[in-house]
Order: sequence, then structure tokens, then C-alpha cells
Amino acid sequence: MCGVFGIYGHSEAANLTYLGLSSLQHRGQEASGIGTFRGDTLKVVRRQGIVSEGFNREAIDALAGDRAIGHIRYSTSGGSFLRNAQPLSVNYRHGDLAVAHNGNLLGADTWRARLEELGAIFQSTTDTEILIHLMARSHGTTLRDRVIDALSRVRGAYSILFLGASGMVAARDPWGYRPLVMGELDGATVFASETCAFSLIGARLIRAVEPGEVIWVTDRGTESIFPFETPPHSAGRSCSQCIFEHVYFARPDSHMFGHSVYETRVRSGRILAKEHPVAGDIVIPVPDSGIATAIGYSEASNIPFGMGLIRSHYVGRTFIEPSQSIRSFGVKLKLSPVADILRGRSVVVVDDSLVRGTTSRKIIEMIRAAGAREIHLRIGAPPVTHSCFYGIDTPTREELIASSKSVEETARFVRCDSLGYISREGLLKSVNDPDAPARFCTACFDGNYPEDPAEEPPRVAIPE
Ligand code: AMP
Repeated sequence: MCGVFGIYGHSEAANLTYLGLSSLQHRGQEASGIGTFRGDTLKVVRRQGIVSEGFNREAIDALAGDRAIGHIRYSTSGGSFLRNAQPLSVNYRHGDLAVAHNGNLLGADTWRARLEELGAIFQSTTDTEILIHLMARSHGTTLRDRVIDALSRVRGAYSILFLGASGMVAARDPWGYRPLVMGELDGATVFASETCAFSLIGARLIRAVEPGEVIWVTDRGTESIFPFETPPHSAGRSCSQCIFEHVYFARPDSHMFGHSVYETRVRSGRILAKEHPVAGDIVIPVPDSGIATAIGYSEASNIPFGMGLIRSHYVGRTFIEPSQSIRSFGVKLKLSPVADILRGRSVVVVDDSLVRGTTSRKIIEMIRAAGAREIHLRIGAPPVTHSCFYGIDTPTREELIASSKSVEETARFVRCDSLGYISREGLLKSVNDPDAPARFCTACFDGNYPEDPAEEPPRVAIPE
């Protein structure tokens, strides 16, 4: 998963992009980058790690110009090295170009091989670079047309920003997998993956970029275009927005696909309490991701809420891991139990999702060691049985515990006394939108992929 931010027409473009990216930091911590234009010249700074580590005053000051795009990387395609950090930047026959992409393209390996056969040399291993090579071969006369030409050839997920000397393009794939919102600040046009970036910089939310929409921003203003064919949405859907954004990925203070993430999570907790009631003494969240869901569970079950686990916000990645001596070290570094409220109690532990099961197993071991009498695990997402090909970093199917183990087997593996997942229907209901079943992708829970991830890209001619 990644985050993107863009601003067009503001004297403090780089500064505001830095701030916007900081509030999108939860979407990836691997690398960050900002690109700005002054006149016809692009300048890009990319750094490994989080924004505040990578960028200092000097780096921001060097990024002059009134238009910028930025990117936060969480590698879902391509390896984890600086060459894959974004914005990707190139100089081709139409001038300088920067690209920041959230999502995964389908058939990327095939595209890459075909373009290499035609002589393309890739400078990174990200799928995003395919679009740059397709743009370089496009006969479009404007940046806008070259972007549309390239995007109309690919399938998969993109919420994406392109910045050239002539303007900025923001686009969302026709399925609408990943989020992208448009706002306004001091007359400048702003784009971000999540509304929380607008809250920080004081931008006004205008609206979401629609699935299949391309927005062309120049000094003359903004133009909205719907250049792609409407895709054959399956199962009566009108688009395929990612439900996992609401479950886990987005920040609770964001509005995602038009709905409050916090409220969705609280409602999912209430529904979870109705679907999987248990007579516990205390409801505790796995912080931070399970907090809102646990609040909802506590409200609906009338079981008191408590912070039975405390999360340290000061630990980063550590290289000093004792190999044998301290078990579950990674989790202990992040979370510690409050034994005083756990000892002798029947504890309902609420988390947002169970993916591999390995984290839950360690957390439950920790809570048990702190003296809990019983541990009942409740999960605010259905069992994750299928990998995501549209930009969420889910492991291979073999690693997904629910793809091979029943609920009872999973409970035995994580060593809890009972385990309950919210149903798919319950989760969709928690978004509080009667159209939710028609608007969300739930492929990770049901294998109903909107686009077949294994289908090869059609053999259409690529311009030489
Ligand atoms: P595990 O079951 O050990 O894979 O861990 C699941 C936990 O990881 C959940 O509590 C989520 O908060 C978190 N999680 C879920 N999906 C992701 C993801 N795509 N990337 C990182 N963490 C995730």
C-alpha cells in the first residue's frame, strides 16, 4: 500500500507536500519522495524511511516551485530499494515527468517483457514504470492524452498523479480500487490518498476523484474526463472500492469513499458483538488498529472497555533482536500488557483483522502470561482467505491462515478460548451505505476478484 499527495498552484508546494505525506505516513514507511517543477525543470528527492527522517529543512528548501507531487511507499510490487521509491522521474522527448502511484497493475511481468522486447530499459522494478514506457511510445500530443493513452492499455489498480511542465494529471482506475480525493487550498488544487492529509494542511475537501475519472490540472483550471470504457463490473457492482481501507489501512479520522472510517469501525464492533457475543469481564483492543472496533464491541455488549495493551509509539525497526533469549520480542517491543486489569479476568480481545495469525498468537501468549483467565478473540474483518492483487500487501494464499484452517483450527493455533470473525455481510453493513455491497471489493474474503489477476494483457499493438 502507498500514499500519494499532489498540489498545483501554491507557493509553498514542497512544504505542504511534506506535511501531507506526514499525515499519510501510516500508508507506508519504507520510502518517501517529493518532486517539484520550477519552470520546465523537475527536481525530485527520494529517501528511504519515513518522511521526517528523510527530509530536513534543506531538502525541502531545495524543492522550489508552485506544483509538487509526493509519495509514501510500502512495497507491494518490486523490491525494497531506493530505485523503486517514488515519484519516479524521467526526462523523455516531451520533457521532464514525475509519477506517484498507489495500487498494483495486473500483468506487470508480461508488460515489462513486451516493452523490453521493443527496446525499453527499465530503471526500477516497479509496475509503475510500465506506464512511463507506454507514455513514451504514445502519439498523444499533450501530457493529458499520453497519460490517457497509457492508462487505457493497462488493467489493475491505480490512484495516480503525473506531473509535467504543462500540468498535473490525477487519475483513478475504472474499478476505483484505491482512494483519491481532491481539495482546494488558497486557490490551489490538492490531491491526496486520504482526507486526513487535507485536515492537517487546512485544505477544503471538494470531492473524491471518481472511478475511471482523469482530472487534468493546468494554469487554466481543472478539466474532468471519463475516457475509459465502463468495465464489466461483476456481481451487480458499480465499482470495486477496497473494503480493507475501512478495516485496517486508512486512518480513523479520514473519510474513506465518502464514509467516516472511525464510525465504520465502531459499527463493525457493534455488529461483531451481536454476531459473536461472549460473557467477558473486559473488552480490550489491540492498539492502534483495533481500538474503534473494540469501542463498538464494548458499547453493544455492555462489557467495560479497557486498555489492556499499551502500545509504544517510540520504537522503530530494531536490529538488536535477541535470537533465543526473549521470545516474541518483536511484539513485546511494540505492545505491553497491563497485568492489573487482565489478571484473573475473562478478556475479550478485539483486533481489526487476522491475516497470518502469528501476531495474534504472540499477543494472546502475552495476555495469558499477564494472568488472564480466559481469552476470547474477536475480529473486525471476515477470514482473509485470498491474496490481494490490487495494492494491499497480503501474503500468498499459503501464508493466510484462513485459507487452510477452519475457525476452530485457527483458534487452536492462536491459543484463544474462542474466536469470532465479523461476517462479510456484517462488515458491509458497518459502512452504513445501502449501496455498499455494490461498491466494495471483498475479494480477500471471498475470492470474487473484480478482474482476473491471472489474465494476460491483450496483445494490442504498442506503438514503436
Ligand atoms: P497477522 O495475523 O499476524 O498477519 O497480523 C495481523 C495484524 O496485522 C492485524 O492486527 C492488522 O492490524 C495488521 N495487518 C493487517 N493487514 C496488514 C497489511 N496488509 N500490512 C501490515 N499489517 C497488516
